[in-house]
Amino acid sequence: PDTGKSKQAIKSYREKHLGKTLSLSFKEPLKIVRGQGAYLYDEQGNAYLDMVNNVCHVGHCHPKVVAAGQAQMAKLNTNTRFLHDNLVDYAEKLLATMPEPLSVCMFVNSGSEANELAFRLAKNFTGSQQLLTVDGAYHGNTNACINASPYKFDGPGGEGAPKYVHKVMLPDPYRGSFQTSDKLAGKAYAQDILRVINELAQQNKKPGMFICESLQGVAGQIIMPDGYLEAAYQYVRDAGGVCIADEVQVGFGRVGTNMWAFETQNVVPDIVTLGKPIGNGHPMAAVITTQEIADAFVTGMEYFNTFGGNPVSCAIGMAVLEVIEQEQLKENALKTGHYLKQQLIVLRQEFDVIGDVRGLGLFIGVELVLDRENKTPATELTAKLVEFVKAKHIILSTEGPYYNVLKIKPPIVFNRNDADKFVAALREGLCELS
Ligand code: PMP
Repeated sequence: PDTGKSKQAIKSYREKHLGKTLSLSFKEPLKIVRGQGAYLYDEQGNAYLDMVNNVCHVGHCHPKVVAAGQAQMAKLNTNTRFLHDNLVDYAEKLLATMPEPLSVCMFVNSGSEANELAFRLAKNFTGSQQLLTVDGAYHGNTNACINASPYKFDGPGGEGAPKYVHKVMLPDPYRGSFQTSDKLAGKAYAQDILRVINELAQQNKKPGMFICESLQGVAGQIIMPDGYLEAAYQYVRDAGGVCIADEVQVGFGRVGTNMWAFETQNVVPDIVTLGKPIGNGHPMAAVITTQEIADAFVTGMEYFNTFGGNPVSCAIGMAVLEVIEQEQLKENALKTGHYLKQQLIVLRQEFDVIGDVRGLGLFIGVELVLDRENKTPATELTAKLVEFVKAKHIILSTEGPYYNVLKIKPPIVFNRNDADKFVAALREGLCELS
């Protein structure tokens, strides 16, 4: 094997010259040199099952996606100020996956940029910058995105919510105030939105926008109770605001039943932001909205984005959509996700430390607790389990405010054998450590 630079040399250089805010996974970080399907390979040629990468959605280095990018790169790459088939062909194919009246597509380069643009669109349309965001959420790394992310502004180094940002309760049916057994939990959580709207009204203000992931990622792999977004959207719209669905982590068929996770909540957002899986690792993202909201953005100021919508990105995005269809990956996410979840539910019956198993398709969370009654987070055990399965060549990570949730969101080519391998390793880890 071609091992290249030593791990220590890379680590030392990073620390000195790449800024100390870069983080690394695992106590002994891995050097990864190649990827294929749901597997990553280190410099020694060892294969690791990737349970985490929701970006390389249709499999690491999928040959059709790679070929599409290579072919277009060898021909032309330029910006949207020239006419090109790829831009309109791709927009058309992407928009065909969206419900009416979502019919305008704007291309950017990252999930953060997509949310930035979504905030600008919403503000122009509603005339209000007042922003409602869900507790624990993460929406990106730019100024406006940090300000919309309780995970950041309430976390280490954060400076709290700015005046125009209002946090609403996380609709967490396991740990929150209204639980799975409560049929009206969704509506009950949405009442917190009404609380903020009423507070704003007392100051003669109205909500401009409500941003919410269609399933909560960073907040802890949370599946919102039925009816939450329906009620939330109604309250926000009645008060004059627009609803933004952040599908950066959860979109493109991961939930299995649908292409978009918001569809599982029976809503149609006013603005949808897409990222991560959209280019299978190529940096691209998009904002989808209605004609009306897009028209309100026409103020005389041009929106220009140097790389957004370039022919190479569009060719890659197109290939990703084609592979999802051709290989029936949405269906695979549903089938394999269901199988994996069932196996994890069996584990829950065997091990008391598993407090909750939840998920849709291949977006699953396993929450670990020291006791099921008080739900005391088993943070240390969760970290140890991640290291344990790493020794078995499985890559996994932790999530949630207490880092006691095993985060499962593999490339959606993940199959039954992969699921069996993971469950066996997890069972072994739980036997040994819990
Ligand atoms: N929204 C969500 C829900 C995310 O998970 C992320 C990235 N983790 C972002 C936005 C930001 O995307 P990016 O890192 O591509 O800017």
